[in-house]
Amino acid sequence: MDELRRAAGRAADLIADHFGHIREEPVWRPVPAEDRLWLTAQRLPETGRALDELVEDVRSRVMRHPMGNGHPRFFGWVNSPPSPAGVLVEPLAATLNPSCAGGEHAGPLLERTVVRWLADLVGYPHPPGGGLLTSGASMATIVCLAAARQRAALQDGWDAREEGLSGRPPLVLYVSAEGHSCLRKAAELLGLGSRQVRTVPVDAAYRMDVGTLRSMIAEDVAAGLRPFCVAASAGTVNTGAVDPLDEIADVAAENRLWFHIDGAYGAFGVLADGAAPCYAGMDRADSLALDPHKWLGVPVGCGCALLRDPASARAAFSLVPAYLHDENADELGWFSEYGPEQTRPFRALKAWATMSHLGRQGVGRLVNHTAGLARTLAAMVDDSGDFELLAPVTTSITAFRYRPAPEITGDRLDALNRAVPAAVQRRGGAFITGTRLGTDDALRACFLHPATTEDDLAVLLAEIRAAAREIGW
Ligand SMILES: *Cc1c(COP(=O)(O)O)cnc(C)c1O
Repeated sequence: MDELRRAAGRAADLIADHFGHIREEPVWRPVPAEDRLWLTAQRLPETGRALDELVEDVRSRVMRHPMGNGHPRFFGWVNSPPSPAGVLVEPLAATLNPSCAGGEHAGPLLERTVVRWLADLVGYPHPPGGGLLTSGASMATIVCLAAARQRAALQDGWDAREEGLSGRPPLVLYVSAEGHSCLRKAAELLGLGSRQVRTVPVDAAYRMDVGTLRSMIAEDVAAGLRPFCVAASAGTVNTGAVDPLDEIADVAAENRLWFHIDGAYGAFGVLADGAAPCYAGMDRADSLALDPHKWLGVPVGCGCALLRDPASARAAFSLVPAYLHDENADELGWFSEYGPEQTRPFRALKAWATMSHLGRQGVGRLVNHTAGLARTLAAMVDDSGDFELLAPVTTSITAFRYRPAPEITGDRLDALNRAVPAAVQRRGGAFITGTRLGTDDALRACFLHPATTEDDLAVLLAEIRAAAREIGW
């Protein structure tokens, strides 16, 4: 064990050095050819190597090439820095290395607490067993939509697990134009067919247009289809918009639809000062997908599916072969009965550590700080003269574009904003990504890092100007 103790000490130094010096490093840099070769084409060694050497490889070949999301000037996609508490306990979870499918040991027991805490943080009802941790929100969405599919079938007197979907009225899912791609993927995977996924248009603030949702449902019913689920967003990836959840809940109740909310990124935004009214109705959902590995900073991967009626997920997934019968199981059974995974990692420990370290107040401060940065950047954009705000700020995302001169319009303006993200990224001073909003190419900055400052926002705008000049604008 001496070898492990020594190497673990060096790994601990690497962790502390990485956190301690991150601001001095570029946010991101291209991987040089030699390291790329090492990363992609190395041979499996014939004889094993010492732990010390592995740590040295990780230092020199791996830690040097981060994605960038640990840096306070990383504003891309929706990827947070890891919480130090989460990083601290990851090796301890691996040390126990349980399968958290179920059973009487720390992992599944602690998962009960973590899921309850998550529900409590975002104000969602929590019946015992009302949720499980997943790899991310994509998997949580599959869990929730599978539960929705089976409930609709059982309501109509058939069993989707047993029969499959053929010969039945097509089940229709409603997603807004700003809904995440994981909703469509889940629908495809569950055999619903993407043709049965309706894209509901959004209003000027990128929120689902509820009037159109109603008329789409009526049309589908008239055509003999079976509307079964509406998936709203509590924080879209493009602009951070939160759909009118209360109104959508009414529509769902009137039409026997399962009400799902994708809160992967934005559910925790409900904790920002003054944000609660915007989230009214979130507690009415049949299921809520959220991602502790986004705003909370739990190390990847840690998603969560919360369910109003845990039995609905169990009805969709429970399949206990003889070799897994557990006489000691309580009435909730095993987590593996509520989702597709059998062997399940000990995700609860890093989520528990992160939430314990922050406390409710710390989570609130983190959410407020980052939401405030998004509003501040929006104000800077409005005051700038060469940037334009493209959407209202609701959570911690600012959607905007660069327009150095008013005569740049149309295709040229789109081309400029399409080219900017990669040019900014290559410079290493900040990291931003782009998207399309309606018909416009846009830049978006997402704030999740507790150490980002207002000075970093000024750097971001300066980097965008410099990058655009560099590529000839
Ligand atoms: C990240 C994200 C997802 C997908 O979740 P994963 O954790 O990446 O599987 C879905 N919806 C939104 C709004 C997201 O931000």
